Amino acid sequence: MVLAELGGKIAYGLSKLTSSSIVDAQALEDLLSSITRALIEADVNVNLVMQLKINIQERVGVAIEKHQEEHGNGSNDATLLSLQKMVQKAVMDELTVLLTPKKSKAYKMKRNKPNVMLFVGLQGAGKTTSIAKFANYYQRKGWKVAMVCADTFRAGAFDQLKQNATKLRIPFYGSYTEADPVLIAEEGVEQFVKDKYEIIIVDTSGRHKQEGALFEEMQEISAAIRPDNTIFVIDATQGQAIYDQAMGFREAVNVGSVIVTKLDGHAKGGGALSAVAATQSPIMFLGSGEKFDDFELFSAQSFVSKLLGIGDVKGWEEEMKDVKTAADKDELMKKMSKGEFTLRDLYKQFEDQLMVTPMSKLIGQGLTEDNKKQLKKFMTIMDSMTNKELDGKVDWHGKKGTDKSIESRIKRIAKGSGTHPLEVKLLLQQHKQQEAMVSKMGKSGMFKGNAKQKQ
Ligand code: GDP
Repeated sequence: MVLAELGGKIAYGLSKLTSSSIVDAQALEDLLSSITRALIEADVNVNLVMQLKINIQERVGVAIEKHQEEHGNGSNDATLLSLQKMVQKAVMDELTVLLTPKKSKAYKMKRNKPNVMLFVGLQGAGKTTSIAKFANYYQRKGWKVAMVCADTFRAGAFDQLKQNATKLRIPFYGSYTEADPVLIAEEGVEQFVKDKYEIIIVDTSGRHKQEGALFEEMQEISAAIRPDNTIFVIDATQGQAIYDQAMGFREAVNVGSVIVTKLDGHAKGGGALSAVAATQSPIMFLGSGEKFDDFELFSAQSFVSKLLGIGDVKGWEEEMKDVKTAADKDELMKKMSKGEFTLRDLYKQFEDQLMVTPMSKLIGQGLTEDNKKQLKKFMTIMDSMTNKELDGKVDWHGKKGTDKSIESRIKRIAKGSGTHPLEVKLLLQQHKQQEAMVSKMGKSGMFKGNAKQKQ
């Protein structure tokens, strides 16, 4: 997937800067050129890319100049490191801004009330498929969901929606005989509101920007049902053309959210991501396949973290929303902001890395078969550890006096897991490095910021 390449190129540019002992105006210029080139190659709108470049320049240019004046090229590690971190943060923040519309807020579903969602988009964009995925997503979370098919234009549209609804056991409304989509939409919504459905999804005919009549019909449906949110579905494979299409829809109806589909194929993705700016509406979900589960809630911050291969704290937090209590979440954030990272945390990280999610398919899991084997072996090693060892109660890299007991622990773990003591040491070494990184990030306040930014 091309977005994986984009992430790789930006991450490479950043790693060049963060591993260099010289951070000056030229290094910044090189980094910015590589970022702009990568974004433009991925089809991101040129004006947006130029704005991003200016923003990063404005944020860090002065600090770099000042650093050069004060330290030249021979600065000490601490000041150089904080400058490198500052550049890295500016790049991540500005990429996040690129994916976050300034004006409109993300729609928030309200419990025990009808949330009427009007789906619009070009024919073939993946609207009907996304409706099924959307319905499935919320139904699984315990919402009362229903679907209305107001697409009377395309033969078979009602059958397709009906089939999906039946598979998912979701009530649906439509008609084989009624030709007026406005009437169907109105009646369907009215019925499901009366029956106290919380999420009522309305499918409309796919249309083209030039098709005036279908655009009018869409406006009439919108005026009749007054949706709480209008969701524009776009096909990522459409490249730069999406920007204009998105503008057309934005002018016709009040688009509130965007769903980007087909990011699993050969889409460059950047065109779709630029639609955020055109519609001024946030991306709500990403679709990355034809199955109901190939669907993922979008968060600009976790997208950027994953794109650049940097630990995705926000995404982690999102995932925990459903399974953990608020107290548990706060506990983890508190722990990480203090720079704590135990072997058990590393185990969870490996589990996440090995999991195939829509996002990992989309921006590349980055793991080779050898990598995967290694992670699994490390996990087997950790399976042979005691709770005390996993929870950071053993000082593996401590003072000389403890060496003997540590050696015998390592031997015991190696025996229990059928591995060599050197492999256990390799794991401990890797853990030490990650712990040091979390500690640095914790001190920089990065996790505190993430914990605050709830969607
Ligand atoms: P609509 O005309 O906008 O309602 O589009 P459909 O939902 O009928 O989808 C058109 C085609 O795109 C179908 O063959 C879908 O299976 C396929 N499709 C939809 N979403 C995705 C996706 O995220 N990835 C892939 N690969 N195919 C998709």
